[in-house]
Amino acid sequence: MPRIDLNVPFHEKDEAKALGARWDPQRRLWYVPDNIDSSPLLKWIPVSQSPNIRAASYFLAEATRGCWRCPSQTRVFGIVLPPGHEVLYVDDDPTGDHWEVADEPTMLSYIAFLADPIPARLSNLAPLYRIDYSQTTESFYWMNHCDRCGVKLGDFDTIEEFGAALNPTTAEEAARVRIRELSEPLLASCGSNTCGLELFDHMRRCR
Ligand SMILES: [Zn+2]
Repeated sequence: MPRIDLNVPFHEKDEAKALGARWDPQRRLWYVPDNIDSSPLLKWIPVSQSPNIRAASYFLAEATRGCWRCPSQTRVFGIVLPPGHEVLYVDDDPTGDHWEVADEPTMLSYIAFLADPIPARLSNLAPLYRIDYSQTTESFYWMNHCDRCGVKLGDFDTIEEFGAALNPTTAEEAARVRIRELSEPLLASCGSNTCGLELFDHMRRCR
């Protein structure tokens, strides 16, 4: 695991130290030493806050998958955006960057940043879906954790792979995903997986 450097303002250095951060005198910055729980230091971990997707409302999706470790069935959560959400189109020339309206629903993956108030909303509705460090992507993103044993359940097996719990490919699979609409705007930095309109309609019907 690569070292994680922190952005600790000078007046918060004692707090960071108490939570386990270590000082690098050469580079003059605080970092997360190996083998400590980095979650208390999360607020100082720099994240990409440049959003690339936005929507007027979103859906919280819930499905069930097997845990790779315990192995029991556990709930997993994700975010689906309805048609009409907007995706940032990044041009070679930055002045050409612009938002494009998407006409298909999409399931978000590898969410590095979610604007307020969604983090607070998710901590109520889906507390095991939270930002955590992935050794696979070597980055922090919103990921699921097993209901029973708490192990990390990465987005590849949950969302990316065809036929995964949150990436249905048939009406039958889609019927196992429950979605509920949350009528508040969403702004995020993440990847996305287009989901067919028909499958989305199946999820909506099976709420
Ligand atoms: Zn488990």
